[in-house]
Amino acid sequence: MNIIVCIKQVPDTANVKINPETNTLIREGISSIINPFDMYAIEEGLRLKEKFGGKVTVISLGPPQSMNALKEAVGMGADEAIQLSDRAFAGSDSWATSYTLALAIKKMGEFDIILCGKQAIDGDTGQVGPGIASQLGITQLTYVFKIVKLDPYAGTLIVERLLEEGREIVEAKLPALLTVVKDINQPRSTTIFHIRRASKLIIPTWTAADLPEVEMSKLGLKGSPTQVIKISSPPKREGVLDLIEADSVELSATILADKIMAEKIL
Ligand SMILES: Cc1cc2nc3c(=O)[nH]c(=O)nc-3n(C[C@H](O)[C@H](O)[C@H](O)COP(=O)(O)OP(=O)(O)OC[C@H]3O[C@@H](n4cnc5c(N)ncnc54)[C@H](O)[C@@H]3O)c2cc1C
Repeated sequence: MNIIVCIKQVPDTANVKINPETNTLIREGISSIINPFDMYAIEEGLRLKEKFGGKVTVISLGPPQSMNALKEAVGMGADEAIQLSDRAFAGSDSWATSYTLALAIKKMGEFDIILCGKQAIDGDTGQVGPGIASQLGITQLTYVFKIVKLDPYAGTLIVERLLEEGREIVEAKLPALLTVVKDINQPRSTTIFHIRRASKLIIPTWTAADLPEVEMSKLGLKGSPTQVIKISSPPKREGVLDLIEADSVELSATILADKIMAEKIL
């Protein structure tokens, strides 16, 4: 099976800070990670490969440092990786991101399944997966909780989707794009063997010039139909404790206990 996993590099914080003048993320001093939901997508891709054979290729659109995210995915066991990086891609909204990723996937050739996270923890729109599927004209199955059955020979799969009002079982034809929720699996760690392979693997960087039949007017900020005019944090609610700086459950519990003692909240 040819499995493609789309991964986005995101800031390693829930406390995203925005530059009020440019309405862009302040990235200085913040380390980056693979979008947590994409870790589940990678894991599912690796499990499918282990079951049915084939290869897993990870792809990411982002600035040069997104190479680290791709290397980490190879360190988990992905076979190949492709980076999409070009100044022309900067400022892409979810439509332009989907367009660019879809063109790159077309260039990659035949595939059976594309896996994405259900959403990115910074942009948070959940639109890129469905956007890629509609650009490629393939089936999209969102919020997948379980791949119940996959038959690569018949080209069919059955999945269970996690919805607000319950679960839904859907049968579809391959090729298909799945966005996955965190309940689908437990992502594995990187291994020394795969980290060594990642350090030696030459990961190509594709620019706009490498994309077939690209329309430059559809790329980046200029090609983006949505633009963020203003971003602001919601006002803090009275009586809500700020635990966002606590980086462990134990610390959160300690802060909470101290607060309860000090203010006799209960
Ligand atoms: C605070 C903030 C607000 C924003 N608001 C908007 C907005 O309202 N409208 C808008 O169109 N854009 C918005 N953006 C821009 C948006 O982050 C990017 O356009 C982004 O590339 C796509 O949206 P997302 O991050 O929401 O991804 P999502 O659609 O939430 O991501 C879903 C999945 O798609 C895949 N994916 C997403 N991006 C990539 C990538 N670069 N490379 C590979 N795979 C990827 C991953 O598998 C991911 O799990 C905003 C950005 C920020 C920081």
